[in-house]
Amino acid sequence: MLWVALASMTQNPIEASSRPTWAEIDLDALAFNLRSIREKIGPRVKVLAAVKADAYGHGAVLCARRLQREGVDWFGVAIVEEALELRRAGISLPILCFDGFWPGQEGACLQKCITPVIHRLDAAEALNIAARARGAIFPVHVKIDTGMGRLGVRYDEVSEFAASFRRFESLRIEGLMTHFAAADEPDRDEFTRQQIARFRQAAEIFRAHGHQIALEHLANSAATFAYPEAHADMVRPGGALYGLWRDALHPKTKPADLRPVMSFRTRVMLLKRIRRGETLGYGCTFEAPGEMLIAVLPVGYHDGYLRALSNRGRVVVRGKFAPVVGRISMDLTLIDVSAVDGVQVGDMVTLWGSDGEMAIPVEDVAQIAGTLSYEVTCGVSGRVPRIERSAETP
Ligand SMILES: *Cc1c(COP(=O)(O)O)cnc(C)c1O
Repeated sequence: MLWVALASMTQNPIEASSRPTWAEIDLDALAFNLRSIREKIGPRVKVLAAVKADAYGHGAVLCARRLQREGVDWFGVAIVEEALELRRAGISLPILCFDGFWPGQEGACLQKCITPVIHRLDAAEALNIAARARGAIFPVHVKIDTGMGRLGVRYDEVSEFAASFRRFESLRIEGLMTHFAAADEPDRDEFTRQQIARFRQAAEIFRAHGHQIALEHLANSAATFAYPEAHADMVRPGGALYGLWRDALHPKTKPADLRPVMSFRTRVMLLKRIRRGETLGYGCTFEAPGEMLIAVLPVGYHDGYLRALSNRGRVVVRGKFAPVVGRISMDLTLIDVSAVDGVQVGDMVTLWGSDGEMAIPVEDVAQIAGTLSYEVTCGVSGRVPRIERSAETP
């Protein structure tokens, strides 16, 4: 029965060549979210799409290709390797590399037009040497640490930095940026305003030292929606593009017009009846209160279905919610389908995302697991194929 059901599934082109556990990526929703953000910021502000961490697990190449066609202005990644992946895939737009580069990667940045963020003079020095050797003037962005306390030139050390940077005759500071620590938190409103003020002051100092800055940018998703005064020349949304907002935007932001991009799905692999008093899974953490119908799903915590959802999560199957029972294991999960009429092997199961009228927001999943939605989508492993869905694709 299993084999008949699985074989019949191959008639559906979406799953034809993949295991029956997949992350469906709604590229039309991604494009819709970009348009929503554009509406919020107006025509003069550019958009850098944060596609680091494989586009928060959504598939960087897939997402970047569509966003490029939709007219996004820049891409942002964390590391040079991620930028190279985009270049190999034919992405031609400017790419900003948030975390800069490691010694030895200067050539790759220059050759592939990857714009690094500079946080230290010694990195600028190394890049300047490499750029001079090529006879190029190379653009970089400089990050100011206005309160995040991670990367960047401290806001109170900007003067020395801006003065010293003058000696790098083969580099040009194209952009100046900072990053907010708590733009989503109403209690930190004062702190965010202070970050903005510190940034403005830093930009003044750079200009006073003769640097002509073409692009000033500060705003992540939360600031894009909650602090219009921080839009400057460009905003850098990540989460909002992927429709992750319930736990990422400032609560004063009215429910944004954003659609979830990822739906994480699998299929019923096996059905079995169990009797009262029998237990399920590792640690025997679930004991059947009566006769039950259990479905085995070919998904586990290695795929990114978090173990913290054991006995707490729920899924959608045939238009009904079905609870997770017992511990989620590495490759398998059990659900209670006693109340799901007509359930069959091969039925599609939605772990999060939408299924017709039903939805399980990934933010809710994150809340149950005690984490942030970003960590949940980032956690979908490489073992899970990303399947694009779009009215545009044939
Ligand atoms: C990840 C990141 C962003 C995007 O943040 P979201 O909260 O996802 O909008 C913007 N800027 C920098 C520097 C980042 O690292």
